[in-house]
Amino acid sequence: MDGKDRPVFDLLKRELEREEYSLILIASENYVDEEILEVQGCVLTNKYAEGYPSKRYYSGCEFLDQIENIAIERAKTLFQAEHANVQPHSGSAANMAVFYAALNVGDKILGMDIAHGGHLTHGARVSFSGKFYQAVGYHVRKDNEMLDYDEIRRIALAEKPKMIIAGASAYPRLIDFKKFREIADEVGAYLTVDMAHIAGLVAARFHPDPVEYSHFVTTTTHKTLRGPRGGMILCKKEFARAIDSAVFPGIQGGPLMHVIAAKAVALGQAMTDSFKDYQQQIIKNAQRLCSALEKKGYRIVSGGTDNHLFMVDLTDKGLTGKEAQESLEASGIMINKNLIPFDTKSPNVTSGIRVGTPAVTTRGMKEGEMDLIADLIDAVLQRPADEALQSATRERVKGLCKSFPFYSRIYDL
Ligand code: PLP
Repeated sequence: MDGKDRPVFDLLKRELEREEYSLILIASENYVDEEILEVQGCVLTNKYAEGYPSKRYYSGCEFLDQIENIAIERAKTLFQAEHANVQPHSGSAANMAVFYAALNVGDKILGMDIAHGGHLTHGARVSFSGKFYQAVGYHVRKDNEMLDYDEIRRIALAEKPKMIIAGASAYPRLIDFKKFREIADEVGAYLTVDMAHIAGLVAARFHPDPVEYSHFVTTTTHKTLRGPRGGMILCKKEFARAIDSAVFPGIQGGPLMHVIAAKAVALGQAMTDSFKDYQQQIIKNAQRLCSALEKKGYRIVSGGTDNHLFMVDLTDKGLTGKEAQESLEASGIMINKNLIPFDTKSPNVTSGIRVGTPAVTTRGMKEGEMDLIADLIDAVLQRPADEALQSATRERVKGLCKSFPFYSRIYDL
């Protein structure tokens, strides 16, 4: 990786080294392979293609049409969806397009409270979803920190939302989409499932399928699905036109065709047996790392995990999420501070951390490495101000990463 623009290319090289020699345990991140990197960095970035295949506003779209059709067909096949729109620039844009297609400004939406694991775009006050719509939140139960379907039903019956949003950014358990649909039907609401975090697990059939139960499904393509940074919408045929015109010209102009091509490649990869094995190993690794930390005395939110992530409550360790994040980052271990349910601290401080295994699993790490990582995390968190320990840990992390090379296979590092 070399270019004339020294300031930018030098920083790119440093970021490459950071990704190669850190333990990436941020639940929403992953490593794409060289094929996706190549396609995402190709000449398709030059091309305007407003519209949809065979209905473009520009000339010269012959090959782009075919690429977008491949992405659409793969998305439909992989998730058994009636219609797919692969143009949203991001997960947030996908959610915005669904709201734009199905709601009027001022309509009521019911989503998971961000403080309990929901996403900003599910009704948080600081987001368009909380500013343009009347947002009501549902929660997890205090006793088991799991979704409380009775409460969701109770709120839905009382509030009569026009749309219910299921899906989360920080929820370690399976979500019962069938139950969500029953509640939505009872109150005459649309059901939108945002499967951004779990799309890879859904594709590999390790998480119950949201597509059959939802009016709309949104996702990012860059988390467990392991594709380029972007978004996607799946829906029933009857909503196809409304969704397509909400994405373009509703909220976006020209599609990012280089990203759509990379989405096609990622969707192709997600159809393979090795992708299925990969998703299974993500869950095994999350469960192993989670139970290794639990054995060391860490309180795990909801007592465990069924998916790719888990949350650790640091309250009784006398540590905040912020302090944990900083000391682990200085040790080459990337997690993120996260509110835990019923947190008394602010989102910038938090009482917990969120830990996820998609990226380390992509590198080929398995249960044995999870035990080692639990030892490293525990040692750092026991002495969070010990800078000598942090630099020694950084070296151990680098050694571990060198045993599982990823980008150093294709770039000089
Ligand atoms: N939906 C969920 C559940 C997410 O966790 C995220 C991102 O973390 C998004 C949507 C938004 O995706 P993006 O960052 O691509 O806008």
